[in-house]
Amino acid sequence: MIDSNGRFWRGENFDDLVEYLREFQPGGYPVEHVNELTCPECAGGTFYVEADDTEGAALARCAACQTIQYIADSVDYADEADLVECACPCANETFAIAVGYALRHDQEIRWISVGLRCIQDGILGVYADWKIDYSPSRHLLTTAV
Ligand SMILES: [Zn+2]
Ligand SMILES: [Zn+2]
Repeated sequence: MIDSNGRFWRGENFDDLVEYLREFQPGGYPVEHVNELTCPECAGGTFYVEADDTEGAALARCAACQTIQYIADSVDYADEADLVECACPCANETFAIAVGYALRHDQEIRWISVGLRCIQDGILGVYADWKIDYSPSRHLLTTAV
Protein backbone atom coordinates (compact mmCIF):
# COMPACT_ATOMS: atom_id res chain seq x y z
CA MET A 1 0.00 0.00 0.00
CA ILE A 2 1.27 3.44 -0.92
CA ASP A 3 1.22 5.94 1.90
CA SER A 4 0.43 9.25 0.21
CA ASN A 5 -0.37 11.22 3.33
CA GLY A 6 3.01 12.82 3.89
CA ARG A 7 4.93 15.29 1.78
CA PHE A 8 6.52 12.34 -0.01
CA TRP A 9 4.79 9.17 -1.11
CA ARG A 10 6.09 6.01 0.48
CA GLY A 11 5.88 2.43 -0.70
CA GLU A 12 6.55 -0.91 0.94
CA ASN A 13 7.49 -3.00 -2.05
CA PHE A 14 8.02 -3.17 -5.79
CA ASP A 15 4.30 -3.20 -6.58
CA ASP A 16 3.95 0.16 -4.84
CA LEU A 17 6.76 1.56 -6.96
CA VAL A 18 5.01 0.30 -10.11
CA GLU A 19 1.75 1.90 -8.97
CA TYR A 20 3.57 5.16 -8.32
CA LEU A 21 5.07 5.17 -11.82
CA ARG A 22 1.66 4.54 -13.37
CA GLU A 23 0.16 7.33 -11.29
CA PHE A 24 2.99 9.75 -12.07
CA GLN A 25 2.76 9.29 -15.88
CA PRO A 26 6.28 10.57 -16.68
CA GLY A 27 6.24 12.82 -19.74
CA GLY A 28 2.45 12.81 -19.53
CA TYR A 29 2.09 9.32 -21.02
CA PRO A 30 0.63 6.19 -19.45
CA VAL A 31 3.27 3.71 -18.34
CA GLU A 32 2.35 0.47 -20.06
CA HIS A 33 5.30 -1.72 -19.20
CA VAL A 34 7.52 -1.85 -16.11
CA ASN A 35 10.69 -3.81 -15.48
CA GLU A 36 12.27 -4.46 -12.12
CA LEU A 37 16.01 -4.00 -12.30
CA THR A 38 18.11 -6.82 -10.90
CA CYS A 39 21.85 -7.29 -10.94
CA PRO A 40 22.98 -9.68 -13.73
CA GLU A 41 25.92 -10.83 -11.60
CA CYS A 42 24.49 -11.44 -8.13
CA ALA A 43 20.71 -11.04 -8.69
CA GLY A 44 20.70 -8.25 -6.10
CA GLY A 45 17.99 -5.61 -6.21
CA THR A 46 19.57 -2.70 -4.35
CA PHE A 47 21.47 -0.04 -6.26
CA TYR A 48 23.27 3.24 -6.16
CA VAL A 49 21.94 5.34 -9.03
CA GLU A 50 23.51 8.10 -11.10
CA ALA A 51 21.25 10.10 -13.39
CA ASP A 52 21.19 13.09 -15.71
CA ASP A 53 17.59 14.20 -16.08
CA THR A 54 18.47 16.82 -18.72
CA GLU A 55 20.35 14.57 -21.10
CA GLY A 56 18.18 11.58 -20.20
CA ALA A 57 20.51 8.90 -18.95
CA ALA A 58 20.95 6.80 -15.85
CA LEU A 59 23.17 4.05 -14.54
CA ALA A 60 22.74 1.68 -11.65
CA ARG A 61 25.57 0.29 -9.53
CA CYS A 62 24.77 -2.84 -7.55
CA ALA A 63 25.13 -2.15 -3.83
CA ALA A 64 26.31 -5.71 -3.23
CA CYS A 65 28.86 -6.37 -6.01
CA GLN A 66 29.34 -2.94 -7.68
CA THR A 67 28.35 -4.19 -11.16
CA ILE A 68 27.23 -1.28 -13.32
CA GLN A 69 24.25 -1.32 -15.68
CA TYR A 70 23.24 1.49 -18.02
CA ILE A 71 19.47 1.81 -18.09
CA ALA A 72 17.82 1.43 -21.52
CA ASP A 73 19.84 3.45 -24.07
CA SER A 74 21.82 5.42 -21.48
CA VAL A 75 25.15 3.95 -22.57
CA ASP A 76 24.78 5.86 -25.86
CA TYR A 77 24.55 9.16 -23.99
CA ALA A 78 26.93 8.46 -21.13
CA ASP A 79 29.74 10.54 -22.68
CA GLU A 80 27.64 13.72 -22.94
CA ALA A 81 25.71 13.12 -19.75
CA ASP A 82 26.53 14.73 -16.44
CA LEU A 83 25.59 11.86 -14.16
CA VAL A 84 24.87 12.83 -10.58
CA GLU A 85 24.42 10.47 -7.65
CA CYS A 86 20.73 10.21 -6.69
CA ALA A 87 19.84 10.76 -3.05
CA CYS A 88 16.53 10.34 -1.28
CA PRO A 89 15.21 13.36 0.69
CA CYS A 90 16.35 11.31 3.73
CA ALA A 91 19.92 11.38 2.31
CA ASN A 92 20.09 7.63 1.74
CA GLU A 93 21.53 6.64 -1.65
CA THR A 94 20.40 3.04 -2.13
CA PHE A 95 17.26 2.19 -4.05
CA ALA A 96 15.11 -0.45 -5.69
CA ILE A 97 14.61 0.44 -9.35
CA ALA A 98 11.64 0.21 -11.70
CA VAL A 99 12.10 1.16 -15.34
CA GLY A 100 8.85 2.34 -16.88
CA TYR A 101 7.95 2.40 -20.56
CA ALA A 102 5.28 4.36 -22.38
CA LEU A 103 4.54 2.97 -25.84
CA ARG A 104 3.50 4.47 -29.17
CA HIS A 105 0.55 3.17 -31.16
CA ASP A 106 2.94 1.04 -33.21
CA GLN A 107 4.28 -0.45 -29.95
CA GLU A 108 7.61 1.31 -30.29
CA ILE A 109 8.84 3.02 -27.14
CA ARG A 110 7.84 6.62 -26.56
CA TRP A 111 9.13 7.43 -23.12
CA ILE A 112 11.36 5.87 -20.48
CA SER A 113 11.29 6.62 -16.78
CA VAL A 114 13.40 5.57 -13.83
CA GLY A 115 11.40 5.13 -10.64
CA LEU A 116 13.24 4.66 -7.36
CA ARG A 117 12.14 3.41 -3.97
CA CYS A 118 14.44 4.33 -1.11
CA ILE A 119 15.62 1.23 0.74
CA GLN A 120 15.78 3.20 3.99
CA ASP A 121 12.34 4.78 4.30
CA GLY A 122 10.39 3.75 1.18
CA ILE A 123 10.08 7.24 -0.32
CA LEU A 124 9.13 6.97 -4.00
CA GLY A 125 10.36 9.17 -6.81
CA VAL A 126 10.98 9.47 -10.55
CA TYR A 127 14.59 10.58 -10.77
CA ALA A 128 14.96 10.65 -14.53
CA ASP A 129 12.75 10.27 -17.59
CA TRP A 130 13.37 10.82 -21.24
CA LYS A 131 11.91 10.61 -24.72
CA ILE A 132 12.78 7.92 -27.25
CA ASP A 133 12.43 9.33 -30.76
CA TYR A 134 13.78 6.56 -32.93
CA SER A 135 12.83 3.07 -33.97
CA PRO A 136 13.28 0.20 -33.75
CA SER A 137 13.28 0.65 -30.00
CA ARG A 138 11.67 -2.54 -28.67
CA HIS A 139 15.08 -3.92 -27.70
CA LEU A 140 15.14 -1.31 -24.92
CA LEU A 141 12.50 -3.35 -23.10
CA THR A 142 15.31 -5.62 -21.96
CA THR A 143 16.10 -2.66 -19.68
CA ALA A 144 19.82 -2.38 -19.27
CA VAL A 145 23.29 -3.23 -20.54
ZN1 LIG B 1 25.36 -7.42 -7.92
ZN1 LIG C 1 14.86 7.71 1.99
